[in-house]
Amino acid sequence: MQAEVITVRNLSFKYNAAEVLSDISFSVNAGDYIGLVGPNGSGKSTLIKIILGLLNPSKGEVSLFGFNTFEMKDLVKVGYLPQKMGSFNPYFPSSVKEIVALGLISKKVFPRRLNKSDETVIDRALKLMNIHDIKDKLIGDLSGGQQQRALIARALVNEPELLILDEPATALDPETRENFYSLLHELNHGKKVTIVLVTHDFGTIGKYASKLLYLDKKIIFYGGFDDFCLSHDMRQFFGEASQHLICHRHD
Ligand code: ADP
Repeated sequence: MQAEVITVRNLSFKYNAAEVLSDISFSVNAGDYIGLVGPNGSGKSTLIKIILGLLNPSKGEVSLFGFNTFEMKDLVKVGYLPQKMGSFNPYFPSSVKEIVALGLISKKVFPRRLNKSDETVIDRALKLMNIHDIKDKLIGDLSGGQQQRALIARALVNEPELLILDEPATALDPETRENFYSLLHELNHGKKVTIVLVTHDFGTIGKYASKLLYLDKKIIFYGGFDDFCLSHDMRQFFGEASQHLICHRHD
């Protein structure tokens, strides 16, 4: 049996009175590559925040690697790339390398110095994202795409077993986006990193992910793309054209 990396059981969530997630249950296995898709406001970011333990469910349970997210002391095995790149304050006095190093420091008691093995993994992440040559530049002086690569490097620096990415490709130019998707493919296939990729680009997600989770406050569909394409219910729900768009691999 495959190990469950994320288990969500009967999860509901309300902001004040408004329920934005309703009775959600699903599990993600080690090695899965999930495309999490849904319209704006369908609860994708909220679900991710609950999985990461940043928000407390109103009802239900969430566990990561078999532990309740609120019992986990740290999220060392998890890399998270948030949706909002936040446009960095141009005067924010941190270099690219310092931003990437934060991915290591945040898991350890602060303050601390970086040791030699920290330096090695930081260098590796910088090279992987092709930003080693600009490591000493201030983050605020970089383009949006370069800033995003720095944040991806920060998410990867711990060599996470689970990588959660919220709309990561929107600020990237087409070439960087392709490289980024290749990198995710390599992490998933080569290093067996489990990936949850939140995207509204549902026309291309079938090219990258192995499973589709379509959310609209509740789960509309969860499973493989082949099952999605063959599903009569999904044809009725989306209409034939949209179903085709989602399941079409565009290869
Ligand atoms: P998505 O990521 O799919 O766009 P979100 O999880 O961001 O959806 O939002 C789901 C719903 O919750 C939306 O209606 C949104 O307006 C609402 N919402 C999100 N964040 C908050 C918040 N902090 N307070 C109140 N409502 C929120």
